[in-house]
Amino acid sequence: MRPEILLLGSGWVAEVDEALERAFVCHRMAQVALAERAAFIERIGQKVRGVYTTGVAGIDGALAARLPALEIVAVHGVGVDAVDFAALAPRGIAVTNTPDVLTEDVADLAVALLLAASRRLPQLDRYVRAGEWEAKVPLRASRSLRGKVAGIVGLGRIGRAVATRLSSFGMAIRYYQRSTADAPYPRSESLLALAAGSDYLVVCAPGGAATRAMIDGAVLEALGPDGTLVNIARGSLVDEAALIAALQDGRLGGAALDVFADEPRVPAALRECENAVLTPHVGSFTVETRTAMGRLALDNLLAHFAGRPLPTPVTGAAA
Ligand code: NAP
Repeated sequence: MRPEILLLGSGWVAEVDEALERAFVCHRMAQVALAERAAFIERIGQKVRGVYTTGVAGIDGALAARLPALEIVAVHGVGVDAVDFAALAPRGIAVTNTPDVLTEDVADLAVALLLAASRRLPQLDRYVRAGEWEAKVPLRASRSLRGKVAGIVGLGRIGRAVATRLSSFGMAIRYYQRSTADAPYPRSESLLALAAGSDYLVVCAPGGAATRAMIDGAVLEALGPDGTLVNIARGSLVDEAALIAALQDGRLGGAALDVFADEPRVPAALRECENAVLTPHVGSFTVETRTAMGRLALDNLLAHFAGRPLPTPVTGAAA
């Protein structure tokens, strides 16, 4: 008999979706209207042994409590900040994620955002489309990267991949995180010191309680009017109200953001900031990486129900 699983989120690649259908009885939350979800969970909850979810959706304690037979949560993503470990751990429920397979594409997007901000690509695109080039509207020069300092917040898998790329642009790399990394870059003694000494602050640390709003008004002010914040990690790491205020009054030079505090809602005030480049949480959103992530999340579920070791379990320390 195929185990029953609950899918939170949607848009998995077809190959993975089909494999999930073959291996499991799939209950899809995304196909149920909001008003009917409580009744849906009431109907299927007792039978659900696995959850397949996204990094953003995760699983909260209230839902987990309504799934008494739950054995495993497979996260399609590396960030597990939306998973309620306090609710799952006492029940011995396994959690898996998809590290490594997305690192390079997310680092590519961080660099693309940094370049877009520094060379003002969205503004220049708008300039050409609006006919301002032909009309000889004065254009201000952008800034080069060579010799500038990139401060990486969180020199983990993605942070390191970002650092390698930015080094090749002739940038100096510094970082801040709790531990000292085995890496050829100096570690700043604090986040504030990193921001004060950086032209670009690239946020690559996980979301969750420990990092909530760590990029606050003081950090943004230290980064300064010529500084740019790049965030590909989680919106929760940034005090978004402070960010908007700093962008509006020029205390911060610019921002390039893939993630936001309350996705997919982006405050109108932020959308109106001419000095911000915004993308809709697409760090890992390439055909290749989404396929690899889907396969890895699926492999974790298959391994669990076959009694094999999990390929990528999230250990207590990582959580
Ligand atoms: P990782 O390898 O675990 O690296 C995270 C790094 O952050 C570690 O080196 C860690 O070092 C540091 N860190 C943890 N807590 C910190 C704190 N309180 N202050 C400062 N640094 C801290 O994770 P990864 O694979 O690089 O992924 C990083 C994050 O990127 C994920 O958690 C996810 O939220 C995000 N992400 C976003 C996208 C996207 O589409 N935009 C895609 C994938 C991932 P210490 O423990 O020594 O502090």
